[in-house]
Amino acid sequence: MPVPISQAWTVASYVLTQKVKGRKQYPLVLMLEPLYRCNLACAGCGKIQYPAHVLKRELSPEECFKAVDECGAPMVSIPGGEPLMHSQIEKIVEGLLARRKYIYLCTNALLLKEKLHLFKPSKYLTFSVHLDGQKEHHDFSVCREGGYELAVEGIKAALARGFRVTTNTTLFDGADPNSVRAFFDEMMKLGVEGMMLSPGYNYDKAPDQKHFLGRARTRRLFRAMLSNRKPAWRFNQSMLFLEFLMGKRDFRCTPWGMPTYSIFGWQKPCYLLQDGYADTFDELMATTEWGNYGTESGNPQCANCMVHSGYEASGVDYTFSSLKGLLATARATLFTKNTDEEALLLLNEPLKPVHAHNPLVQIEGNPEKLEETRA
Ligand code: SF4
Repeated sequence: MPVPISQAWTVASYVLTQKVKGRKQYPLVLMLEPLYRCNLACAGCGKIQYPAHVLKRELSPEECFKAVDECGAPMVSIPGGEPLMHSQIEKIVEGLLARRKYIYLCTNALLLKEKLHLFKPSKYLTFSVHLDGQKEHHDFSVCREGGYELAVEGIKAALARGFRVTTNTTLFDGADPNSVRAFFDEMMKLGVEGMMLSPGYNYDKAPDQKHFLGRARTRRLFRAMLSNRKPAWRFNQSMLFLEFLMGKRDFRCTPWGMPTYSIFGWQKPCYLLQDGYADTFDELMATTEWGNYGTESGNPQCANCMVHSGYEASGVDYTFSSLKGLLATARATLFTKNTDEEALLLLNEPLKPVHAHNPLVQIEGNPEKLEETRA
C-alpha cells in the first residue's frame, strides 16, 4: 500500500465528493511555501535565487491557515525554502493538525534532529526528506558535502521518535539508474515509510541549466529504474503517476491539482511557473487561463514538464474517474514488479560522466551563518 489506509480513505472520499458535486477542477494538495529562505543552495532549484529582502520574508501562521481554509485540499505539502528555518513552523504545523490535514513537511533534514522536539508524532504529519540519491549523488545535487549523512541522521532520529518519514527525490539528466535502485534499497533498510520521485523542472532561475531532462529521456530513465522492481520498495505516491513517468500511460497536466500559496499570494498557474499571482484561491481558479498550460497547449514553458505538481493529481483523478481507472490503480498497486527485459538492458548502458565535468560546488559555513548571509 503506497500510503496508510486512513490517508487513502480521506483522499478517496474527498475526490469522490468532488466528482459527485460535478467539480472538474479541484485541488488535491496545497503547496504551502511559508518562506523561500534555505540553508542549501542547490544547483537545480529556482526558489533560492531571490534577493535578500524576499528571502527574509515569512508567511505568518494566520496567513497559512487562511490559505489552507480557502483551498480546502485534504493534503498540505510544506516546501520552501527550508520550512524548518521558519520562525513559527511548529505553530503552522499545530494549526494544520487541528484542521486534520495530512501534512508533508518537505525538509533537507539538516536541522531535523535539533528541531524534532518542536513536533509530536501524528498520523497526519510526515517529514518528507529531500534526498536525491546515494551519498555522492545527493551531495553533488545539493552542492553540500556531508548533506547526505546529516539527512540520514535526521531520518534516524525522527523514526526513533515515532514520526512518519518519507523521502522525496528529484532526478536530473545523467542520473545513474543503478545507483538510484541501490538508493531505494538503502532507504527501505533505513525504515522510511515510502519514497516519492519526480523529474526536475527546468527553472530558468536555476544556476545549473544543463541537466534538466527532456520527456523522452525522463521516460527512459524511469523505465530503467522502476521496471523489474524489488518487492521491498514502497512508493508514497500515485502508482499511475509512476506509470506515466515510465511512459506506460499519458496524462494531461492538471496544474490546479497542486496549487501554490507563498509570500506573493496564489501563484499562477502552478508551483513551477510564475505568470502572476491572485489574492484569493477563488480568484486563482477563476482568472487563470488554464488552457494555456500543459504540454499539449504548445506553451514552451511546459514542453518538457512531467513534474509531480502537474501530473500526480492527474493520476489520482484518473483513478476515480471510471472503473477502468480504479482497476488500473488496483493492478499497479498489487502487481508492482513491472517485468521488462528491455529495461534490464537500459541498466547496462554507459552513463554521461556528469560529475566529472561539473565538480561539486561546496557551500561554505554552518546553516545559521548561511541563513544570515542569504537573508
Ligand atoms: S506542464 Fe508543468 S510547468 Fe506547465 S502548467 Fe503543468 S505543471 Fe506547470
